[in-house]
Amino acid sequence: GLVLGIESSCDETAAALVTTERQVLAQRIASQDEAHAPYGGVVPEIAARAHAERLAPMIDVVLKEAGVALHELDAIAATAGPGLIGGVMVGLVSAKALAMAADVPLMAINHLEGHALSPRLADPALTFPYALLLVSGGHCQILRVDGVGEYRRFATTIDDALGEAFDKTAKILGLGYPGGPAVERLALQGDPDAVRLPRPLVGSGEPHFSFAGLKSAVLRAYETQQHSDADLAASFQQAAIDCVTDRLAIALDAMGPVSALVVAGGVAANKAVRGALETLARARDLRFSAPPPALCTDNAAMIAWAGCERLPTGQNDPLDIAARPRWPLDPTAEPVRGAGV
Ligand code: ATP
Ligand code: MG
Ligand code: FE
Repeated sequence: GLVLGIESSCDETAAALVTTERQVLAQRIASQDEAHAPYGGVVPEIAARAHAERLAPMIDVVLKEAGVALHELDAIAATAGPGLIGGVMVGLVSAKALAMAADVPLMAINHLEGHALSPRLADPALTFPYALLLVSGGHCQILRVDGVGEYRRFATTIDDALGEAFDKTAKILGLGYPGGPAVERLALQGDPDAVRLPRPLVGSGEPHFSFAGLKSAVLRAYETQQHSDADLAASFQQAAIDCVTDRLAIALDAMGPVSALVVAGGVAANKAVRGALETLARARDLRFSAPPPALCTDNAAMIAWAGCERLPTGQNDPLDIAARPRWPLDPTAEPVRGAGV
């Protein structure tokens, strides 16, 4: 099977051709970091405009490079949410137009499902069910992935996502946007024990996350001018990692047997985070799996792959399907207030 994937939910415009045999035949990705950097975050209007300008020629390039004609595709898979609605609509409408013109099935993919299944694109031995830490700019969740379309949420954040915490820490330290990679780099030169920072919710019986207090503590510590930026970055990163491993341990106890511990989403690109999770997995005799960094941050290969995973089910979507700004992976999950602490 052969699927074209389209991603446009945030500030990456991306297209990719992926086969059910896990081959990425061609892919392109255009980041808009420079366009948003002056504002310290993604500006929805600028993002939607950039997607609209870049996507069509990009799809053309990907098809030409792989020598594939539209009618040869088994499906066109596009992110249909959650995300910035203007950008999502650009990608979804493009997919609909191509699907209609070439008479190819359309798949409306949940961006989070793209992240959730991305580890299986890189790791053929990874089988269901697995424990998933999904950590990105907008989400911070622990899920059990029982199969394609089968996601049970065990934890979420009661305030900020982990990637958001990295981005806010970067902003405090004047490292620019996006902040995760910059904080990771600076942390390499600092002492993770230098600054005393809180570990919100660590020790609580439910596995939820909270990072707003950690960010505020970083800001207060910064304002004392008593610490180097590198020490602050390293101490923040260590505090965040301590939260993640503590919360994961609680969730793993609650979710029953799984085949592996898996991390996905932009923050999964972080080597210190990966290292801590690998250690946790080893202590529990679990396999550890994490996609290569380029598959962690937003990309279209993971969207195409989610389409490949769905192909055997024969499940497609109608051409009038709507884009969804909000779209939980586990619709049965209760909203969390105060995370029961
Ligand atoms: P979502 O997937 O929730 O809709 P998103 O699409 O913006 O959000 P991703 O592209 O998956 O998120 O991830 C981006 C986030 O990952 C940003 O917050 C960024 O700072 C963070 N990130 C990327 N690389 C690293 C890294 N090396 N260390 C820490 N954080 C990182
Ligand atoms: Mg981005
Ligand atoms: Fe994402």
